[in-house]
Amino acid sequence: MTTYVWNYTAEYEKERDDILDAVDKVFGSGKLVLGDSVAGFEREFAGHHGLGHCVGVDNGTNAVKLGLQALGVGPGDEVITVSNTAAPTVLAIDGAGATPVFVDVRAEDYLMDVGQVEAAITPRTKCLLPVHLYGQCVDMAPLERLAAEHGLKILEDCAQAHSATHHGRLAGTMSDAAAFSFYPTKVLGAYGDGGAVVTDDPEVDAALRRLRYYGMEKVYYVVQTPGHNSRLDEVHAEILRRKLTRLDGYVEGRRAVARRYEEGLGDTGLVLPATNPGNEHVYYVYVVRHPERDRIIEALKGYDISLNISYPWPVHTMTGFSHLGYAEGSLPVTEALAKEIFSLPMYPSLSEDVQDKVIYAVREVLRTL
Ligand SMILES: *Cc1c(COP(=O)(O)O)cnc(C)c1O
Repeated sequence: MTTYVWNYTAEYEKERDDILDAVDKVFGSGKLVLGDSVAGFEREFAGHHGLGHCVGVDNGTNAVKLGLQALGVGPGDEVITVSNTAAPTVLAIDGAGATPVFVDVRAEDYLMDVGQVEAAITPRTKCLLPVHLYGQCVDMAPLERLAAEHGLKILEDCAQAHSATHHGRLAGTMSDAAAFSFYPTKVLGAYGDGGAVVTDDPEVDAALRRLRYYGMEKVYYVVQTPGHNSRLDEVHAEILRRKLTRLDGYVEGRRAVARRYEEGLGDTGLVLPATNPGNEHVYYVYVVRHPERDRIIEALKGYDISLNISYPWPVHTMTGFSHLGYAEGSLPVTEALAKEIFSLPMYPSLSEDVQDKVIYAVREVLRTL
């Protein structure tokens, strides 16, 4: 059987009764859209973060987009972010009508090089958008300082960082609003698409509720300002409520897998993920680095192991973003990383046997390179 980076059937086998009970509860409730499960999940997910508000939306991309719009970001505004991210981060900025501005990432942790942000600020800059990539947080203090100095908003992209912490603070609690994805592979995943925005600001909360519901408020059928249909589905909200109670366990499972990789691969030429001081990593993906990346991935196919790259093409080099005008070579660290990084299997239900097979195969491939 081929080993992939993700496999969720093991989780479903373990949680099947609870998942099906959640589905049955919603289907039997007669409230299929914006019912008790969405409201309950929003209360519980906000509570998990110690924040006042959570608004469930249809996916993580729209969580970022609606989050930006709720913060007042729109056409003519610039949003500073990174190119080493999932394309949806940047699509969401584009979808809000704003212009993405990229800074490079750091070679040590693949995260936003916050030292480059100040030079990227212009009179049009409206928002900073750090991405807590792969499961650990960006260095937030410099961004918070810049936001205060220049009157900017901060939106955290937490799609890969559920329950990650930074100097004791949870990802999602260090900004004006924070976007989450519950795509099935994420650290907290639904059984389909889902997303949410968390905030402590009641006005941002109200704007989000309008934006996800056609732009309507209080009086249904009257659009206040044009919005979207971007609601979190009841079924996924109920499943997420159940899974939220197990989130600590999922994170522990991922950390145990990471520890086993460190024991099994720490003495090889692979560069393993480094956790910054003050950070607690949740290992959404386990990203390693090697100059012979392509040969390694090819050779591992011979061991029936099929790996992913997060991400093989920096966003600024994609045809769809050529209008932004970033020449090749403009973000050198991002571009160099994209040629050398790849991801090993990482999910909480990954068995020790399968992981040992991966460790053995990687060691063999590196030995005979
Ligand atoms: C997954 C992801 C998104 C988009 O979430 P979807 O639910 O797939 O739309 C946005 N940003 C990052 C960093 C992601 O990993």
